[in-house]
Amino acid sequence: AAALANRATSALRAYDPGHDLPALRRRFGAVIAELGSNENPLGPSPRARAAAASALDEVWRYPDPLGASLKRALSAAEGVPVSGITLGNGSHELLMLLAQCFADAEHPVVHSQFGFAVFPIAAAAAGAPSLAVPALPADHPEAPYGHDLDALASAVTANTRLVYLANPNNPTGTWFGDAALETFLGKMPADTIVVVDEAYHEYVDASGLSTAVRFLDRFPNLVVTRTFSKAYALAGLRIGYMLSHPSVAAVCERLRESFNVNGVALAAAEAALGDRDYLARVRETNRVDRAWLADALSARGFRVLPSQTNFLLLDLGRDAAAFEAHLFERGVIVRPMVGYRLPHTVRVSVGSRAELDRLLEHLP
Ligand code: PMP
Repeated sequence: AAALANRATSALRAYDPGHDLPALRRRFGAVIAELGSNENPLGPSPRARAAAASALDEVWRYPDPLGASLKRALSAAEGVPVSGITLGNGSHELLMLLAQCFADAEHPVVHSQFGFAVFPIAAAAAGAPSLAVPALPADHPEAPYGHDLDALASAVTANTRLVYLANPNNPTGTWFGDAALETFLGKMPADTIVVVDEAYHEYVDASGLSTAVRFLDRFPNLVVTRTFSKAYALAGLRIGYMLSHPSVAAVCERLRESFNVNGVALAAAEAALGDRDYLARVRETNRVDRAWLADALSARGFRVLPSQTNFLLLDLGRDAAAFEAHLFERGVIVRPMVGYRLPHTVRVSVGSRAELDRLLEHLP
């Protein structure tokens, strides 16, 4: 089969989805610290749980293929018309869908070297080559390994149909401000779709960074993707959304699977979106615990990179495999960034205090 793979897929590694959690629970019991997947340790809002439970009564029906009720709520929350909203089976699906709609073999998809792993996979799935633009250097004071927007802008030509940015980015945790994005968008050809993946948007508290959504009116080629997997803690239900010009949404609507988002997810997401107090608690807990964890790790001599997300990237300066294996044997799961060709770094989620205590206790 490897010999049969087409040019786009043969150069790719599969997306690394992490460990088999049920198997690990059987081995270590409930006490494992799962710090490898950037999940929200507080879990979803009680209102989202209740909405999901009552939606179970309706699972024998197909879900609303338009997700109309959730879209109305998102429209009110984000100030984007319903016609500019597309729902996805996780934002991962939307990233794939965008490439299917806008990429092809003749037009390389542009992304940053250490940008989110799905970007080149989405390009390959669409049969398009991808161009990984060198990241900012390891010793960059604000965004080590982050997106180099100037280099990205220079790599875009009239032949570029699709650019993927992540802000903040996974796995680096780095971000760029609104002003830098505005400058970048101003340099883009009108026919180049620029996707800003804001999966970690709700965790952001840096000054100068709000959201790309504020530029949607001025740049009809801009697309913003978001997810309910992170701050809203609905990763298991698989639901994300995309905000764009209605004409972009209309194109995606042609290829979207009709029932891509299930009814339990639609109901839970709408309830989660409505619980602003719970979201504020999630944000505050993450802000405090992220700073606490960064301090604790720095105090032990680790290089902790700046982060606006619910995870930290540690630069060990040496291969992370032994570090990971040591923690794994003690029921602490972290993620070495081998697949990103950053094998000397490891990503650690801001888990619960109990999980973080366990991490600190067992650090090699
Ligand atoms: N974008 C980024 C930057 C991510 O880190 C993730 C999840 N790891 C996703 C998108 C996809 O998330 P989901 O499909 O759960 O919405």
